[in-house]
Amino acid sequence: MEKRSYNFAAGPSALPLEVLKQAQQDILCYPGAGCSVMEMSHRSQSYQDIIDRAEASLRRLMNIGDEYAVLFLQGGGTGQFSMVPMNLAHRGDTTAYIVSGNFAGKAQQEAARWGNAVIVASSKESNFTYIPKIKASDIPADAKYLHICGNNTIFGSTFNSLPDHGKTPLVADWSSALLGKEVNVNDYDLIYAGAQKNLGPAGMTVVIVKKSIVLDPVDDVVPIIMRYKPQIDNGSMYNTPPCWSIYMSGLVFDWVEAQGGVKEMERRNKIKAAALYDYIDASAFYNNPVAKEDRSITNVVFTVPSKELTDKFVAEAKENNIINIKGHKLVGGLRASIYNGVSQEAVSALLDFMKKFEKENQ
Ligand code: PMP
Repeated sequence: MEKRSYNFAAGPSALPLEVLKQAQQDILCYPGAGCSVMEMSHRSQSYQDIIDRAEASLRRLMNIGDEYAVLFLQGGGTGQFSMVPMNLAHRGDTTAYIVSGNFAGKAQQEAARWGNAVIVASSKESNFTYIPKIKASDIPADAKYLHICGNNTIFGSTFNSLPDHGKTPLVADWSSALLGKEVNVNDYDLIYAGAQKNLGPAGMTVVIVKKSIVLDPVDDVVPIIMRYKPQIDNGSMYNTPPCWSIYMSGLVFDWVEAQGGVKEMERRNKIKAAALYDYIDASAFYNNPVAKEDRSITNVVFTVPSKELTDKFVAEAKENNIINIKGHKLVGGLRASIYNGVSQEAVSALLDFMKKFEKENQ
């Protein structure tokens, strides 16, 4: 086998090696099925067992009560921030958005196609270096929900506490931190997350939604594939689900449980993040622009003094077995995404390289 590198990709991103090995073992023939998961009917008992097991595991990991439906859907994070307004609001209704980054902004833009999507607060003027704080009274009284992006993958910031949202239902995109830190489901009416960061391969999106908030009926113009209700009624299988991605995510859920659950993941992620932030803060060469209280423990962004040094860092990192470390084009610089599948060893290797690079280039 070719040597695996230390992978700091923002998504799709590193998966636990044990999970990949399990998938490798099952890839040609899933036990008892006579075929691969990729070749299996989603209406078969084998597949029903796979999806049921994945849902049960996620419910245990996040203490999800029966009043919430758990859905495994196609369409990614983008699919979800498009679906949310159509299922929680009627055409023209008011909704509220905190714009704390690129995807939070895109979510608001999609909602604005559907209704009156009010931007309650934004940190755009600072290129999203902090999480805007709000008061419940800032939210329009008739808003059907307040939407936040819990963890801003590109800008490396996160909501470390809930916004003051009063009685307005809260909807959150936790794509880049779900299962990487504890999230109290009962604080939210709807949570969604694209799998391709912390949960599994691309292709599946988790939705945890309080059943009572889903409009029934939705406006007639909403296409069937964009409606939650048929998926809730059919256990995510109104149509063909993203079978392989659900299977892989189920393996990741089992792995997280075996490691000690989300609390343990958060403990590890905090240690990995603190090692990077402490070093960056102590250095005059590296910089992180995010307000300290809003820093993400899954996406650590940092800069070096020039564009030339950034390119040099990326190239030399690769020679040192460190890949996917380039920052997003909206911020430039560098980014280490340190999701659950990224080991302490990988972070130590990155730190060693950062120290060497600083010494050679300061
Ligand atoms: N939300 C967040 C926080 C993201 O990081 C991303 C993708 N990087 C998205 C939404 C969009 O997800 P997708 O590409 O699956 O549509």
